[in-house]
Amino acid sequence: MSKDLFEGQSIEIPCPDCGEKATRSLASLRSDTEYDCSGCGKTIRPDAKKLFKGLDDAQAKARKMVADLSKKFR
Ligand SMILES: [Zn+2]
Repeated sequence: MSKDLFEGQSIEIPCPDCGEKATRSLASLRSDTEYDCSGCGKTIRPDAKKLFKGLDDAQAKARKMVADLSKKFR
């Protein structure tokens, strides 16, 4: 299995000002890349720490699921 389940995935981040959704790859978020909102032009710096906290939780759950599954087939 790849070391990061979500690497190469993209997520939609709504602009805090106008709500316009921007699609960002997780790789670009991990490197803390700023981007300009396509709706209002505001420079947005995604809160990567917060985003990845949620992703880590999701990944932990997914790993546990896979572990439980593989136990069943042993
Ligand atoms: Zn905006």
